[in-house]
Amino acid sequence: MTDYIIIGQGLCGTFLSYYLHKAGKKVIVIDESQPFSSTKVASGVINPVTGRQIVTTWMIDELLPFAWNAYSEIGKALDVDLISERNVISFPSSQQMRDFYDRRIDEKNVYLANIEAADVKYNPYFTFLFGAVEIHPVYLINLHYMLKGWRKQLASENLLLEEAFHEEQLKVFPDHIEYKGIHAEKIIYCNGINAYQSPYWENLPATYNKGEVVIVDIPDLPQTNIYKFGSTTLVPWYDGLWWVGSTYENNYTDAGPTELFKRRKDEELKFLLKQPYTIIDHIASIRPAAMERRPFVGLHPVQQNVGIFDGMGTKGCSLAPFLGKQFSDHLTQQQPLLPEADVKRFQKILSGRFSKAD
Ligand SMILES: Cc1cc2nc3c(=O)[nH]c(=O)nc-3n(C[C@H](O)[C@H](O)[C@H](O)COP(=O)(O)OP(=O)(O)OC[C@H]3O[C@@H](n4cnc5c(N)ncnc54)[C@H](O)[C@@H]3O)c2cc1C
Repeated sequence: MTDYIIIGQGLCGTFLSYYLHKAGKKVIVIDESQPFSSTKVASGVINPVTGRQIVTTWMIDELLPFAWNAYSEIGKALDVDLISERNVISFPSSQQMRDFYDRRIDEKNVYLANIEAADVKYNPYFTFLFGAVEIHPVYLINLHYMLKGWRKQLASENLLLEEAFHEEQLKVFPDHIEYKGIHAEKIIYCNGINAYQSPYWENLPATYNKGEVVIVDIPDLPQTNIYKFGSTTLVPWYDGLWWVGSTYENNYTDAGPTELFKRRKDEELKFLLKQPYTIIDHIASIRPAAMERRPFVGLHPVQQNVGIFDGMGTKGCSLAPFLGKQFSDHLTQQQPLLPEADVKRFQKILSGRFSKAD
């Protein structure tokens, strides 16, 4: 008998299975590898300020130290460096944005500082009109190495099924679940946007948020900082390349990379960069998100053997470690979940099609 079946090994499935495994529970992870899952396309940045009005990210004072420890710990277990501290050098794209930054600096936001003489330092690389602001500390996560490392570990312990999960083969009983001959106490959906197709979760107020990215070679730009120009961010990527993105689209007709995005990014880079560059690749994915921007964590209000850990939106890198630990403690030690994230807040709409007698 297995304790937990976990569907999906993105950020959510990785952290939840890691913490449950660490707590001595037997987990089986079912993951059909997809080259462009949200976690694989993400830049891996944890930024303490967010949005057009430059507000401090939800819960960030707690999330930053937790994330540092969590990625360091899992990195040590997998023998790979997963987290590094960086700066974001942000170049406001308008006077209005510059004013927002200045207001937050005046309010003594601890994560922001004006950069004096930004012209001297950054003129050789970029065209910018409204000075520059430093955001610090910002963490950069090596997501691909984490996914690969944990996958290898799971496989070596025979805890990974590399295949698609088929909902119709799941049988839920009052005290356990069965899937393809595996008996488990509970099953937890960590399969990103696909969880929203499940009859257990289809009524959640979820959204699908598309992000497109180009991967760029800029040989003469040192990979020390992350650079931000309005909604366009340049993040050090693998093999010395740069991740340049992204979009935030809730209405899209094409889930894949589009020519229009590539053309626009190319034009933007032509204007911003004073160094030669080449677009090497172009990728896209859909962020699993929640309409009210708070994740979905916990057990189904009627089917207590079925759970979900999903809906991280744009903040998976900081939320998944913190909430993954919390969910693991909830499952193994009955610790409470953060009420804003607990899926029980949707008790009414989730209970609809399931009666207690099911
Ligand atoms: C362009 C872009 C940039 C981003 N940048 C950042 C960032 O800088 N910082 C940040 O914090 N967040 C960022 N995000 C958001 C972040 O990627 C997500 O919050 C997070 O990765 C979601 O993780 P997940 O595990 O829920 O989903 P996913 O990463 O989608 O993982 C789901 C897993 O389930 C598997 N799966 C799905 N269906 C099935 C099935 N039926 N059977 C078996 N397996 C299945 C998939 O293969 C996948 O491995 C970004 C997202 C995008 C798209």
